[in-house]
Amino acid sequence: MSVHPDQIDKYMDEIAAEQAIGVSLYCGRCGYNLRTLPVVGRCPECGSTYNARPAKLDGIFREEDVEVPITDALIFLVLGPPGYWLLIRMVTSYSPGKLFFGSLLGGFGTYFGIRAVRKAMRFMRYHQIARRIRQEEEYD
Ligand SMILES: [Zn+2]
Repeated sequence: MSVHPDQIDKYMDEIAAEQAIGVSLYCGRCGYNLRTLPVVGRCPECGSTYNARPAKLDGIFREEDVEVPITDALIFLVLGPPGYWLLIRMVTSYSPGKLFFGSLLGGFGTYFGIRAVRKAMRFMRYHQIARRIRQEEEYD
């Protein structure tokens, strides 16, 4: 008899939901301290779901995830403008080369631009969470 990995995972979540978090872990959305709450559940403050099982760590604040998106922003700046320029120039004179390189550069540039914005938003949110955690630790 074989058991599907997803079923094992679900079973592990069910077991974890009956256990309590023993250390200070913080909600990845609002920074609420989840200590003493079930390992799998919902944040009582903002309602977002979390999974604090070490193999998962979904929706849990992690200091190492705080990353300034410098690389993504640089790639966007290097690839995006030349790509958009080639695509804009196709309005006056079409060429397969401009279409190909314009789409390639513009496409990758846009992808990294979106990634940079998302990471910047997460960085700002995590920065606020880290500040909240520091303030609450001072009162403990
Ligand atoms: Zn929360």
